[in-house]
Amino acid sequence: MPETTTAAGTADVPAPPPLIPGVARALSPLVRRIVAPNPGPMTGAGTNTYLVGIDEIAVVDPGPDRPEHLEAIAGCGGDRIRWIVCTHTHLDHSPGAAALREITGAEVLAFGNRNGLKVDRRLAEGDRIEATEFRLRALHTPGHASNHLCFMFEEERMLFSGDHVMQGSTVVIRPPDGDMTAYLASLEKVKALRLRSIAPGHGHLIDDPKRVLQWYIDHRLEREQQIYDALAARGTAKIPALVEDVYTDVAPSLHPVARHSVHAHLLKLAAEGRVTGRTLTGPWSITA
Ligand SMILES: [Zn+2]
Repeated sequence: MPETTTAAGTADVPAPPPLIPGVARALSPLVRRIVAPNPGPMTGAGTNTYLVGIDEIAVVDPGPDRPEHLEAIAGCGGDRIRWIVCTHTHLDHSPGAAALREITGAEVLAFGNRNGLKVDRRLAEGDRIEATEFRLRALHTPGHASNHLCFMFEEERMLFSGDHVMQGSTVVIRPPDGDMTAYLASLEKVKALRLRSIAPGHGHLIDDPKRVLQWYIDHRLEREQQIYDALAARGTAKIPALVEDVYTDVAPSLHPVARHSVHAHLLKLAAEGRVTGRTLTGPWSITA
């Protein structure tokens, strides 16, 4: 889920064609994308569903359980769809898995059962999906969600990033399942891969992964410092006041969402012994 719709300075790059729900678009010889019809403030143009492979197909993130979307996926892949993999179990990513499994007979794979998702096979760090034309390698990337996986498409060095990295926005980290310490570690982990591109759960293909990942990390550390400084200036404060102080560049309508990210930053600072506090609604203060 995005925190804001402005990010990652792409103004110098010509705009790619718009993301239109239901229309399959080839991103490479082996990768197609279909955008789900669920646009909104938290999903951008909608959730991206990816089809990887031609003879044997892995569907990455079937998206919401919307018949027109699942029909578009099945229409593209038919009985060649062998695997349905979910990056995580938020409602814009995994609920379509069960119905798509019914239609195609494909195997459902994810980190585990949760939020109504039932998997045929659990995936852990390093597990692989081996097709004749390609391999997908699972990377455990907790932070946005504790059960979040990214998938490395080895042959093209393309990362299917789910909501770990998005194009055109940053990601909401909502404790307790969202964890800022884990998120930053997962960003570093992905940055260490030699990536050619990132295919995010929302937005366009990212063709300068190194720069975007560095921006993501820098942006978070900058926010953390701003939050720490705002709290230091106030001595003791509650989260809504800190959001007012820090999120001056974000539309006020998104401030309630930003509270969760501030909470996540404060919990990270608390784990480091730099601030004291615990909850979304309670007081926070600088550690003496
Ligand atoms: Zn999402």
